Amino acid sequence: MPLTRRPRRKRRTRIVVTLLSGLLPIVLGSAILYMQAERTLQQSAGETAEQALRQFDLMLDNTAEAARILLPLAGKNCEEVKLALREQVTRRPFVRSTNLVWDNNLYCSSLFGAFQEAVNAGDYHQGKLWLMNGNPVTPDTALLIYRLSDGRGGALTTLDGYHLSNILRLIGRQTLLTLQVGDNWLSADGKVHQGSLPAPPVAYSLLESERYGFKVSAGFPQGEVRRYMAAEYPPLFSLLIFFGAISGAIGHFVQKRSTSPSHEMMRALEAGEFISYFQPVVHGDSKRWSGAEVLMRWNHPKEGLVRPDLFIPFAEHSGLIVPMTRALMQQTAALLGPHSVNFAKPFHIGINISASHCQDLELVEDCRDLLAAFAPASVELVLELTERELIEPSDITLQLFEQLHALGVKIAIDDFGTGHSSLGYLRTFNVDFLKIDQSFVAMIGVDALSRHILDSIIELSAKLDLGIVAEGVETQAQADYLTEHNVNFLQGYLYGRPMPGADFLEALTHH
Ligand code: C2E
Ligand code: CA
Ligand code: CA
Repeated sequence: MPLTRRPRRKRRTRIVVTLLSGLLPIVLGSAILYMQAERTLQQSAGETAEQALRQFDLMLDNTAEAARILLPLAGKNCEEVKLALREQVTRRPFVRSTNLVWDNNLYCSSLFGAFQEAVNAGDYHQGKLWLMNGNPVTPDTALLIYRLSDGRGGALTTLDGYHLSNILRLIGRQTLLTLQVGDNWLSADGKVHQGSLPAPPVAYSLLESERYGFKVSAGFPQGEVRRYMAAEYPPLFSLLIFFGAISGAIGHFVQKRSTSPSHEMMRALEAGEFISYFQPVVHGDSKRWSGAEVLMRWNHPKEGLVRPDLFIPFAEHSGLIVPMTRALMQQTAALLGPHSVNFAKPFHIGINISASHCQDLELVEDCRDLLAAFAPASVELVLELTERELIEPSDITLQLFEQLHALGVKIAIDDFGTGHSSLGYLRTFNVDFLKIDQSFVAMIGVDALSRHILDSIIELSAKLDLGIVAEGVETQAQADYLTEHNVNFLQGYLYGRPMPGADFLEALTHH
């Protein structure tokens, strides 16, 4: 079965479908990878925040421990206790200074000894922690103060912000990590900010310390998911492109396969590629043209003219033969109709009809439409039904043939002698002509048995009063024999090959 160029629109559709089937796994896969990257980043932010929180808890434990040890000394004379304050600073890695408070007044410091400074409990988040941006000793250096109080006395221990921002930097790495104490927050660059903390746009995670009430927030800057994918997933992307290519190729081939013979014929039908050729039929005695058989050709854009036996079986199988025959009848009517006034009457027009066309009464309408295009009584329409594929008699078929006869349409059994039609069959359908299969004609003067069959068919048709047509007449000897035996009509290359409508009309004027 020949394949053709598809019309432009269909070709475009095919390209689009191929592209879509190629892109689908890539797009879907990328979406899945994107979600996977988001999940990974979310998990990573959560883990980082948790790690930092644990570290801060540990450092504060150490700082709080110093305050707990010093609290009983609150209220005592500074000179007596200042060594104890300094001892805590030296022994504890994160503690930068220690201080004692009495009646909200910082009166003794590890740094300065006796000292005077008011303490405002409101500065401390939950009365416990204050993240400040430096003190008079080290301005602009983050400092976290832990406050422990009991009655009038209290102890303040401070944790150097340097350690805190170090943790944020080391643990955070690619993560935007911050420490938040009340309204103040510390970023990895060691700066203390005030006001609401801007939540990172990607994979935001916020954890709170159960013991000290500070919070750690983690997340990533805008575009991190794409950056992460670009860094981590190139092998997976290659795989996706590979799958895309395979899927595109499958899409392409599936579509190509769907260009089955029947699809292809449907396209050809829409494109008007099935055209009618005409082969003259002559009178057995005078050899004058008595009409023509209409034979279908496929004018294929790529393959050229395709013989009917190469595509008619597919057309019959797919049911397309009915619209194809209808198109052929319309073409014939349009071509010959306008010239019918000049026809030698009655002019035979033979149309090949498949059994499937006889399943309903539409064929009657098709014939009526064809006849309407010709001058009244100028043509005799002959439907040729092949003996190889006989129609089962049923209510519908009987009705069909009755109506066809009423319309003046004749019935011929084509390829007669190759099938099994019985006398009963010929009567049931009121057959008018027998067309002797060309294989018998070819054997005239060659094979005695075939000639015997031929003689019997001719005899039978005479007895049944049926018209007889011999097809495949190629030699004068065959013609002479058939004429001698009173065969009514002859058809074959001897008188003319099947030809396009214009050529046929041209030749007809000479006959
Ligand atoms: P068919 O109905 O028996 O048509 C006669 C075939 O014999 C034609 O072949 C014709 O070209 C060929 N032929 C005519 N004279 C000679 C000759 O002297 N020598 C030789 N060797 N061949 C000759 P074609 O046109 O190739 O058609 C083949 C078959 O395809 C037809 O056989 C018919 O069964 C089918 N067919 C053709 N057109 C149609 C159609 O419109 N509808 C249906 N259902 N079948 C069609
Ligand atoms: Ca025929
Ligand atoms: Ca035939």
